[in-house]
Amino acid sequence: MRAAILALAFGALSLLHAASANFDILIRNARIIDGSGNPWFKGDVGIRDGRIAAIGNLTGSSGYREIDAANRVVAPGFLDVHTHIEGGIEQVPRGDNYILDGVTTVVTGNCGGSRLKVGDWFKTLEKAGVGLNVATMIGHNTVRSEIMGTANRAATHDEIRRMQVLVEQAMKDGAVGFSTGLIYIPGTYSNTEEVVALAKAASKHGGTYASHMRDEGAKVLEAITEAVTVGREAGMPVQLSHFKIDNKKLWGASVKSLELVEKFRREGVDVVVDQYPYDWSSTNLGITLPSWALADGQTKVRERLADPATRKKILTEMVAMRRELGHEDYSGAAVASHGADHSVDGKTISEINAGRGRPKTLESEAETILEMIAKGGAQMVYHSMGDEDVERILRYPNTAIASDGGVRVFGEGVPHPRAYGTNARVLAEYVRKRGVITLEDAIRRMTSLPARTFGFQDRGLLKTGFAADVVLFDPAKVQDMATFPKPHQYTEGFDFVIINGKVAVENSKPLDILAGKILRRQ
Ligand SMILES: [Zn+2]
Repeated sequence: MRAAILALAFGALSLLHAASANFDILIRNARIIDGSGNPWFKGDVGIRDGRIAAIGNLTGSSGYREIDAANRVVAPGFLDVHTHIEGGIEQVPRGDNYILDGVTTVVTGNCGGSRLKVGDWFKTLEKAGVGLNVATMIGHNTVRSEIMGTANRAATHDEIRRMQVLVEQAMKDGAVGFSTGLIYIPGTYSNTEEVVALAKAASKHGGTYASHMRDEGAKVLEAITEAVTVGREAGMPVQLSHFKIDNKKLWGASVKSLELVEKFRREGVDVVVDQYPYDWSSTNLGITLPSWALADGQTKVRERLADPATRKKILTEMVAMRRELGHEDYSGAAVASHGADHSVDGKTISEINAGRGRPKTLESEAETILEMIAKGGAQMVYHSMGDEDVERILRYPNTAIASDGGVRVFGEGVPHPRAYGTNARVLAEYVRKRGVITLEDAIRRMTSLPARTFGFQDRGLLKTGFAADVVLFDPAKVQDMATFPKPHQYTEGFDFVIINGKVAVENSKPLDILAGKILRRQ
């Protein structure tokens, strides 16, 4: 009897298959890594109407487009939840540096900086079209600048209320969370109470709290505790951005910082981290100055620099700050882009200082920085991390992979290579060469882990019914090409990238298509 029912069920199933045999795209002979972290299995993937329609043995089915994976890996498209694409995506809507590195979804608005009017921005992008799926957070620094400029003080009750209105509006318009950048102007002038109050305004609508913490060196444990406090009080999951130890004297301290994250997790706090796989960071030049020197707008900054006593005070503090980070010069600080003089792009502060015929002292190099600040500042890359910490943080199971990069205009400036090569570098260097984590685990950190944290309920896994964001690559060949001296080089080896069921990259070349969508909070 039982066998008869089973036979009947199988019969019905195969009839169903025969009737709906056609897929838009059918990928055959793949090693399927589904994003869950489970080991790969052999099979086929059928895509229909922008969704994963079937996974398994699809022999006997057919697709309008058939791709022979030839035993290469098929995985979910990557979700990069720490990006800064504002400004770049408008210039390069297809997001070439990302899609060629396997990224199909980005979350932007990180480190406290986003578009203020999320709803308007989304409409503009939708009209122009986007080459990858885009979600955003609303940034603390963005709303604080709007209400308070760069005032170096605590917010009043009224200012907090007005900032809350802006945060709430962005959440209603579909932002997926609230971000802070607590080392930057003006977020660094805020206290924890202000951040909690704004996070609460966001959390009424759900969403995640992502933080570029107040400190990534000597006070990193306090900074983690502050971020967790915000998440706890506001009732939001916490994402600690670009987790690192950026103080040379404290290399190795990731043992303690990761332990603290785990302690909070045991207590029931949903806190995870993300990381880019390089030992150089990238941010602005202003972080080498004491934050008080940068308050109240550019005119005021110039006034301080023009006053000899104040300039001396700034220089003295800069020198102390640099020594505190374990450096005796700025040879590990290279210019990515100096708007006032692009001829210095790619050079270190030490080289620029020497080029001006100055003595090689820390004071003199700090003086060179002040001249560049007076001319509008610069975007920089800094050698600040130890490789041992980078590896340890990568080994931590709750570390997602995220680039902290932007959409790049090919050839412009000498930016950090992370925007081009983050995912391929993890797969080539840390999986294939060093064996730090397994291939399946690396994929999980690029897909289902970040999808979980940011509430993307139908992305990040190869699963029937999920959005058809898919990458196809040979794990023996995929390779990041971007380097610090030559960052403008696309990753090689993502043979196919499919976004919302449409082929966006074929044979490692981007097609003339904008297949992305704006992803509003679900
Ligand atoms: Zn940041």
